[in-house]
Amino acid sequence: MSTIGKVCAKCRIELRAKKNGVMVVEMAGFGPCAIHQADLWACPECGMEVVVGFGRKACAYHYEETFEAVMERLRRSDDPVIEFWATQSEKEGQGDAHAG
Ligand SMILES: [Zn+2]
Repeated sequence: MSTIGKVCAKCRIELRAKKNGVMVVEMAGFGPCAIHQADLWACPECGMEVVVGFGRKACAYHYEETFEAVMERLRRSDDPVIEFWATQSEKEGQGDAHAG
């Protein structure tokens, strides 16, 4: 197995692991969709950050009874929580009506 990790193509330098086990919220047109745990890496030169290392399954899904409680705990937490959208149109609130 290669020991080379992730490389910033722009700066041509290896990324550094910034935080392991960061909480990531997958957003959909209707709001939070799933909660994942992943790793945050950053470029030491340009500061570009990338979230990688998602598990095969999310920690929690929006249709689960406990989902809202988990979201509430994340909102109150001091730890960074990263939200992401699958597409730019969903991020801009123009997700099509098929979502959900
Ligand atoms: Zn860089």
